[in-house]
Amino acid sequence: MAGFPIEPASRIKTLPPYLFAAIDEMKQKAIAKGVDIINLGIGDPDLPTPAPIVERMREEVGNARHHQYPSYEGMLAFRRAVADWYKWRFGVVLDPDAEVLTLIGSKEGIGHVPLAFVDPGDVVLVPSPGYPVYPVGTSFAGGTSYFMPITKANDYLPDLAAVPKDVARKAKLMFLNYPNNPTSATAGKDFFKRVVDFAQEHRIIVCHDAAYSEIYYDGRKPPSFLEIEGAKEVGVEFHSLSKTFNMTGWRIGFAVGNRQVLAGLGKVKSNLDSGVFQAVQGAGIAALESKDVLAADIRSMYQERRDVLLPGLKRIGLEVEPLRAAFYVWITVPKPFTSASFTAHILEKAGIVTTPGNGFGQAGEGYIRMTVCTKKERLAETVARLEKAGLTP
Ligand SMILES: *Cc1c(COP(=O)(O)O)cnc(C)c1O
Repeated sequence: MAGFPIEPASRIKTLPPYLFAAIDEMKQKAIAKGVDIINLGIGDPDLPTPAPIVERMREEVGNARHHQYPSYEGMLAFRRAVADWYKWRFGVVLDPDAEVLTLIGSKEGIGHVPLAFVDPGDVVLVPSPGYPVYPVGTSFAGGTSYFMPITKANDYLPDLAAVPKDVARKAKLMFLNYPNNPTSATAGKDFFKRVVDFAQEHRIIVCHDAAYSEIYYDGRKPPSFLEIEGAKEVGVEFHSLSKTFNMTGWRIGFAVGNRQVLAGLGKVKSNLDSGVFQAVQGAGIAALESKDVLAADIRSMYQERRDVLLPGLKRIGLEVEPLRAAFYVWITVPKPFTSASFTAHILEKAGIVTTPGNGFGQAGEGYIRMTVCTKKERLAETVARLEKAGLTP
């Protein structure tokens, strides 16, 4: 049979070209040549999930009640554990019945929320640079992203007053993400307060992505958006066990806050997926109930790594944003490089894989991103290799 040309839908044909493909190809070539690659490209914790969580999973998986379809909104016991954790961590009170929704990782909920609220022609406010799921989820729903630059000059916070009035009028939803990927910036309550006022004025649903709230340094805890008065009236917060407990492979996250927003997202989800394996939710309960016992060790390990990498990078002459939260080091590309050419330079000359900043949106041009998801010995080696390779073409 000859078959016929298989045509993808325009929604995937128009996706931006995969910016990391070129890097990946260079990486594969280097590996084939036997180069000892240091991979600082991926934002994925390198250490295993803490043993007590794994142990709880072993017990839960033997429970035959978990072998059937889970409930769509997640087990009440898990949602209660989320509510308790929010109360403990942020002092935010949530109704586990209507103000908590279990997700198959927060990425799933972030990608699907526009399907519930965005119609063709609607605008979604999206930070640039930012997590690519925000604009892609928007475009899958037929919406248009309006990119709000987050730049050093504005402490990596969007300038809400700079959003044109007609754009704000058409905007249905806004994504925000603090602690921020890729810049590692944090937002204070004063900023969140301005967001609530802006959202009220223009009737915009706020979707705040707080995946990194527990990865912080020097004891400076980032706040929740929901700590602000009125926040629950305008939006939701997305959260995840992925980064806090080294659980990226388990696929469990949650959204909390405005019940109408969660009901809409839940309606989309009940038509697309069938929830999270209940054994994983059971293990998630163990993680959340550990409060800070397991998370604190993970946090202090990142801090040790930061304290190796950042001073080293500065010593060899790189301009680096302070790492206050999350695990991303946001580095200004030295002249005359671009994001892409500097990424290529240090891969070729030093065997170090990083991510070009423009992969996160136009406003990321002129930067590269490194992660601290690698042992500190390798981070020290990174500095040594960069010093040897030099910062000029
Ligand atoms: C890692 C990450 C998430 C979490 O993804 P999960 O699907 O929960 O594993 C969410 N947002 C951002 C910005 C991230 O970097």
